[in-house]
Amino acid sequence: MNTEIYKYLFLIIYYWKSDVAMASYLQWMSQVLKEAISLGGLPEELHDLIFKPERVISVKIPVKMDNGKVAVFEGYRVQHNSVLGPYKGGIRYHPDVTLDTDMALALGMTLKNSLANIPYGGGKGAVKVDPTKLSSRELEELSRGYVRALYKFIGPEVDIPAPDVNTNPQIMAWMVDEYSKLSGRNVPAVFTGKPPELWGNPARIYSTGFGVAILAKAAADAFMGGIEGKKVAVHGFGNVGSYAAYWLSKLGAKVIAISNIYGSVYDPNGIDVELAISKPEVIKDVRTYPKGQKSNDTDVPLFVDADILVPASLENVITPEKVERVKAKLIVEGANGPTVPEAEKLLYSRKGFHAVIPDILANSGGVVMSYLEWVQNLYWFNWSEEEAREKLRIIMMDNFKRVMEAWKRLSDKNADKLVTMRDASFALSVERIYKAMKLRGQI
Ligand code: GLU
Repeated sequence: MNTEIYKYLFLIIYYWKSDVAMASYLQWMSQVLKEAISLGGLPEELHDLIFKPERVISVKIPVKMDNGKVAVFEGYRVQHNSVLGPYKGGIRYHPDVTLDTDMALALGMTLKNSLANIPYGGGKGAVKVDPTKLSSRELEELSRGYVRALYKFIGPEVDIPAPDVNTNPQIMAWMVDEYSKLSGRNVPAVFTGKPPELWGNPARIYSTGFGVAILAKAAADAFMGGIEGKKVAVHGFGNVGSYAAYWLSKLGAKVIAISNIYGSVYDPNGIDVELAISKPEVIKDVRTYPKGQKSNDTDVPLFVDADILVPASLENVITPEKVERVKAKLIVEGANGPTVPEAEKLLYSRKGFHAVIPDILANSGGVVMSYLEWVQNLYWFNWSEEEAREKLRIIMMDNFKRVMEAWKRLSDKNADKLVTMRDASFALSVERIYKAMKLRGQI
């Protein structure tokens, strides 16, 4: 009898704990969405209408490994919302990815694309895999297998995937090739983030980081008297973080700390970002950078004496426990969901803290450039790198201006409570989706 009770107690605690841990990003996104809907004075039922994905696809991807055995991988595509256009969002390869995380990321794309004023809904894909453990042939097989499993559900006017964490232009090239073979014709517009040699634009590779830098500068101009000489720390030196650091240093900021999965580098005199990104070994492991103080602690950039912090790794990095030690006065989110709302509230309660520029605004440079690439592909046409970059800059600045205005308006209207820049961005985004739903007769 006693053992029965203990068994049930254990199971209850186990499921409760794992549920909380797994659903937390999704849960807090739901909460922020709810607050934005109420802030905008919109109908309550909008929460469920927007929060719940339209379709969730779960696939198995068998891959013949180099050792002759077949490994079976688990993949997803969350087709979150199509009110404003085709589903749009990246594909993530990560061993820790769960369907819950994918749903939160897909909701993030719906909100990001709406806020950016591009004609897309939102979606996100994922494969549960550690790609560093695969050979190049196995990686190619996996990527082609993912496309075969999803072939019927994607398309240039249906669902347009792109790169995300651990996926890149080469993977998009394999994917577009597989899709084209199955279609019997070239279909460039079904994936974005392709190599420039294969219908991509040269500006796409750095567009997310470039957008982060443009918004960091815009915010520094608005709150801190400019970007020149401002100390920047970057957590995560992948595609987003490395190019954000590069463009920020080009704009006159001083990058003092970087990190990736193996550790970090800190140099109060400034890191030579151009040198760092020119070396593949540094991209792989930042501790191989020739100067500065090295550490195995990946969180060093979060806590150094920086003016601006760019979290550009994964979700849930700035937690209430860690936030006490964060010194930066401005946070520009390169990653999706890096700042947990309770931590964000603590930041805003500090004297002299300016803002957290939220992911759906700050890192939208990638998907906005994807949109330009898609338009190129639909017309079999090309903009030059400079033209595409300038278009992106103009769109990012316009989005920043609209959010700043909304933030001021909503803060003035709700003087009794804290309105964050994330709340204002979510509210603007939801308003556009709501108007489209109304016009379509869905609400
Ligand atoms: N993965 C990127 C993001 O999270 C880009 C998505 C895209 O280009 O569709 O915004």
